[in-house]
Amino acid sequence: SVLFLQGIMHPVSVARLVMEKTPHVYLSGEGAKIFALENGFKEEKLLTDKAKQAYEQWKEKQQYIPKISPEHHDTIGILAMDSKGRLSGACTTSGMAFKMHGRIGDSPIIGAGLFVDNEVGAATATGHGEEVMRIVGSHTVVELMRQGHSPEEACKKAVERIFVIAKRKNKNLDEIQIGFIAINKKGE
Ligand code: ASP
Repeated sequence: SVLFLQGIMHPVSVARLVMEKTPHVYLSGEGAKIFALENGFKEEKLLTDKAKQAYEQWKEKQQYIPKISPEHHDTIGILAMDSKGRLSGACTTSGMAFKMHGRIGDSPIIGAGLFVDNEVGAATATGHGEEVMRIVGSHTVVELMRQGHSPEEACKKAVERIFVIAKRKNKNLDEIQIGFIAINKKGE
C-alpha cells in the first residue's frame, strides 16, 4: 500500500510495486514518492480546474466539516477472480474532500479499505473512512465470510456494526455513508 502520495497519477500501481518489489507493506509520503519516481512514475500536477474551483469556494467559509456524499467521495475498489479461482483486489482514492493535511482514510489501510484472503474471500470499502477503520471493515467482512456468512450477509453485518458504534457515540446516522463489496471463494 501507499499512503499520502501526492502528484503521482496512479498510486494503485505504485502500491502494487511495493507488494512485488519490497519486503514492506506500506510506504508513505516522501518515501513513497521517491520509490515511485525511481520506478518510472512521473510527478504530475493533478489538481483539476473543477477541484480548484470547489476549493476556492470552500475557502470562503472554511468550515471544517469533512463530508461524504456522492460529490465528495471517489474511492474505486475492485475485486477479481481469475480463471484458476485466485482472488485479488485493489482500492484507490484521493480521499474525503477538504480533509486535514496528513489525514489518512481507510482506503490504503490493509484490512480497513481492502482485504483479500485467497482461502476465503475479499472485500473492499467506500464511504466514511473513519467509520470503516474503527471496525477494520474489509477484514471484518472477510472474517464473517470465514465463519460461513454469504458475502451479502457479511457486508450487511459489517455496516450494522458501524451503525451500532455510531449510535453509541450519538452520531447523526443520516450523515454516515458506507459501502462494502465482497466476493467469496465460490465467486459469489
Ligand atoms: N473512503 C474514503 C476516505 O475515507 C472516501 C471515499 O470513499 O471516497 O477517504
